[in-house]
Parts: sequence; structure tokens; C-alpha cells
Amino acid sequence: MRYIVVSDIHCNAPALEAVLRDAPHFDAVLCLGDIVGYGPDPNVCVERVQDYQLTCLAGNHDWGAVGKADLRVFNRDAREALLWTEEELTKVNREFLRNLPAKASLNDRILLAHGSPRDPVWEYLVDATSASQSFRNHDFDLLLVGHSHLPLTFEWSPDEQRARPLPTKLDTPVEMEGRRLIVNPGSVGQPRDGNPKSSYGLLDLDAQTFTFHRTAYPIEITQERMRAKGLPPRLIDRLEVGR
Ligand code: ZN
Repeated sequence: MRYIVVSDIHCNAPALEAVLRDAPHFDAVLCLGDIVGYGPDPNVCVERVQDYQLTCLAGNHDWGAVGKADLRVFNRDAREALLWTEEELTKVNREFLRNLPAKASLNDRILLAHGSPRDPVWEYLVDATSASQSFRNHDFDLLLVGHSHLPLTFEWSPDEQRARPLPTKLDTPVEMEGRRLIVNPGSVGQPRDGNPKSSYGLLDLDAQTFTFHRTAYPIEITQERMRAKGLPPRLIDRLEVGR
């Protein structure tokens, strides 16, 4: 079974299409949350992921867009975009987002959360300290998270009894056999690692590998659509620098 692993699509339909086109053959989609927020195409993105066999989690922006999170915790631009998204979503798509689970497991060894297993919707898992806590307190071989928009891998070191970061190498399978890993596939719709290309991963359970991929998408089309919808300029500008 081969899964495409996507996260933080953020209403960026041209980015989502580019990723689906770029991905090597896959059987199903794992979506780690934040389908909506920031971008111009909430309904298209919510509907498009459902064209596939899908496991999908709730992100903080998905909750924000359907009244399940207090909008005061978001910054001004994010809040403005969420208020617009809330208006734009169809009733059916709002229900879909409202019913998303906060965490899931693929089999008893693979856990999925938008943020972390401890605080699935909100906690950022970006350093060795928070990664170590997850490894210690939760039983998994592979934990897939999103939320930070940064492609990241941590491996548990049984000798040192702590997590250590691994470098992200594109198009190079990471062997999973006999290891404990935490992987963030990065963001489809709003990358923040300085590379504006969409980021995603491929999880191959037969080969026991995870592979990071990047693909370019027509950023200017997304930006044009954001301008037309009156979304905040800072959210439009950041896409081309990947920050
Ligand atoms: Zn996000």
C-alpha cells in the first residue's frame, strides 16, 4: 500500500493539483490537516481530497473555519482569511471539516496528528526536545505530523534515549524498518522553509520507506485568485518566498 502524505494545503488548489500530478503512483491519501485557511479555494480543496481513498485529520485552521476554535488565537491575517473562508464554505464542506478527527492511526504502529500526539491540533513538533517527549510518551514506530509547514524527520536514538533530527533529502527513500521516526511532510499550499515549491511525502508500506518530494506550481495563479478575493497582501506575498 502506497500513501501520498499531504498537509497544510491551505486552500491552494493549484498547489494541490501540482502535487497530485507530480506524485508517483499511490493508492490512498493521508491528509494531516489544515485543508483550509489562508488561500483562495476552500471548497475546491475540501472536495478534491475526497476524490481518493482518504484518511484526513483536523488542523487548527479547519477548526477555526467552522467555529470549533476561538479566532482570537490566530494572528490578524490568518483570522481575516478564516472569516472569509467561513463565509465561502458550502454547508456540506463545513460539515466535512467539522467532523474530522483530531488524530488517527493507520495500523497500531503508525500515528497521525496535525500537531503532536499530546496536543493533536495545536502543539508544534519542531525540535528534538518536543520530538523526544512524543517518542517517550507515545507508542509508535512512525508518527506523521504537519502544522509547522517544515519538512522534518526525527529519529529515536535508543542509545542516547532521545530524538535526533535527520537531514531532509528529496527523492531519496528513508528506510523505516527497525527504526522509530517522526516525519513532517512539509506544506502543500504554504511552505515556510524558504523553498516556495509544494512539499509532500510518499509512504510505501510494502517497501517500508518514506520519501520527501517537492514540486513547482503556478504561484502567480494562486496569488491572483487571492487578490481577487481580497485576502490579506502579506499572505499573498509570502507564497513566492516560501516563508
Ligand atoms: Zn497550517
